[in-house]
Amino acid sequence: MKKEFKFCPLCGSNLAVRDIDGRLRPVCPKCGWVHYKNPLPASAAVARNKEGKFVLVKRAIAPGAGKWALPGGFVEIGETPEEACLRELKEETGLEGHIRRLIGVYTQQSRYYDTVIIIGYEVDVTGGNPALSDEVKELKFVSSDNIPFIPFSSHRKILETFLAGERLL
Ligand code: ZN
Repeated sequence: MKKEFKFCPLCGSNLAVRDIDGRLRPVCPKCGWVHYKNPLPASAAVARNKEGKFVLVKRAIAPGAGKWALPGGFVEIGETPEEACLRELKEETGLEGHIRRLIGVYTQQSRYYDTVIIIGYEVDVTGGNPALSDEVKELKFVSSDNIPFIPFSSHRKILETFLAGERLL
């Protein structure tokens, strides 16, 4: 579960709670540090091979351990959401790709990270060799009529939006 800061990360003083810009926020009475909380950005990939199947990963760690998901993860400082998408795809599956298009941007509540903004991309798999990371216990390519249950609502929305677009083409 989420835990709140009790002490200022800059000076170690006890934090107080004050109204800043219309919201109650943890504030350091000594040095003035304010704990602004913002949604955490993450990318996810609908990564397709030449047959048009896309890759899913069975997660080995929380959240969603043992469940299927799109490859993806948090955007690091210094990289774009597109770069994060392709980096996570490579780390989790061993596959290389390039971004074809933005599918959509969705928010999801997370037990661990509060609110997460998930940016979904369609990716063409261009190379690499399938390989599992510590975070993934299995991966497979699936077609649109053979999708297992995915517990992450944002990933389901990304896939639904992607598949709805495919049917219009
Ligand atoms: Zn402080």
